[in-house]
Amino acid sequence: PDVITVQDLANRMAEKGADLVKALFKMGMPVTVNQTIDQDTAELLVTEFGHEIKRVSDADIDIRHDEDVDDAANLKARAPVVTIMGHVDHGKTSLLDALRGANVQAGEAGGITQHIGAYQVKTPDGSQVTFLDTPGHEAFTEMRQRGANVTDIVILVVAADDGLKPQSIEAINHAKAAGVPIIVAINKVDKEGANPQRVRERLLEHELVVEEMGGDVQNVEVSALKKTGLDKLLGAIAVQAEIMELKANPDRAAEGTVVEAKLDKGRGPVATILVRRGTLKVGDIFVCGAESGRVRALIDDQGKQVKTAGPSMPVEVLGLGGVPMAGDTLTVVENEARAREVAAYRQSEALKRRTVQAPVSLEGMFEALA
Ligand code: GDP
Ligand code: MG
Repeated sequence: PDVITVQDLANRMAEKGADLVKALFKMGMPVTVNQTIDQDTAELLVTEFGHEIKRVSDADIDIRHDEDVDDAANLKARAPVVTIMGHVDHGKTSLLDALRGANVQAGEAGGITQHIGAYQVKTPDGSQVTFLDTPGHEAFTEMRQRGANVTDIVILVVAADDGLKPQSIEAINHAKAAGVPIIVAINKVDKEGANPQRVRERLLEHELVVEEMGGDVQNVEVSALKKTGLDKLLGAIAVQAEIMELKANPDRAAEGTVVEAKLDKGRGPVATILVRRGTLKVGDIFVCGAESGRVRALIDDQGKQVKTAGPSMPVEVLGLGGVPMAGDTLTVVENEARAREVAAYRQSEALKRRTVQAPVSLEGMFEALA
């Protein structure tokens, strides 16, 4: 069975996810960083990169809980998780708002959307897309550094009147380093002086070859202001997601990633969790980073209380013992004793990480391959 995602393995080896993807491709295995590989392949890669394999004890693996892998037979399709990146003022926020607005109108009229750090939108074919609404490179890289690779697809927003700018190129490099596919949204096509063709040509310099030029990078002309091209962009995301065959097991104890967390005056500690696998339910006992708790309420991106949240669904969780950090993992456990045990383990791990600033050896970096 598959044991680890390519990105997790890359993190442990202190290598770039994209380099592992490249090596796997050469080995005849076309996978993305968010896909899992089996133990033999992982070990082969480790040796290939000149690292040593060091196994941890079963007890350690057991307590990590998030290391076990679901049977392929239990996997079901899940929505892609999308991050919007691009140069300042090219329209990231406008595009996020337009996409969300389009959805609100399609849904119940006058529905109040609240900002919980992520939201879901329906594509024209009826599938869902999850957008992280903290655009920008820092959020993306920070989450990655914390080992939380939640993004499946990057939307690179480029203003058609301004073209590729330093932060556009930075975004391309971040996405490539993470091995995450890019869809280019050429924005502001309503503006005078807009030159989408020039954007497509400039993309070539960064090895992004759009479909019109014989490549496999999708690009969509949009106007966040006039709200044109939005359905086409959602369609492009659906196509990319289908190619990636994103799946998760919804029928298990939930695991998720903290997208945002805060201390709310009235409600106490609140975290927006993006469920990665399993189904999170009201009443579930969990560990979240170094905090533990019990789900008191779940609130979706429309501000509605829900009883459950499945894979790729963002949801606000009430009932935390304290405020976790963005990028932390939430893991549902069987009882409170177990929750305390895992929380204590994580606290000691966090302490270790803080004390050992730089890994002393390659073996040290690669400690936990099961
Ligand atoms: P961000 O910095 O990437 O989040 O960019 P914003 O969404 O804040 O947009 C920057 C400016 O560009 C704002 O004044 C927007 O109104 C404007 N803008 C965004 N999208 C479009 C568009 O499609 N057409 C036009 N004409 N202006 C746009
Ligand atoms: Mg903005």
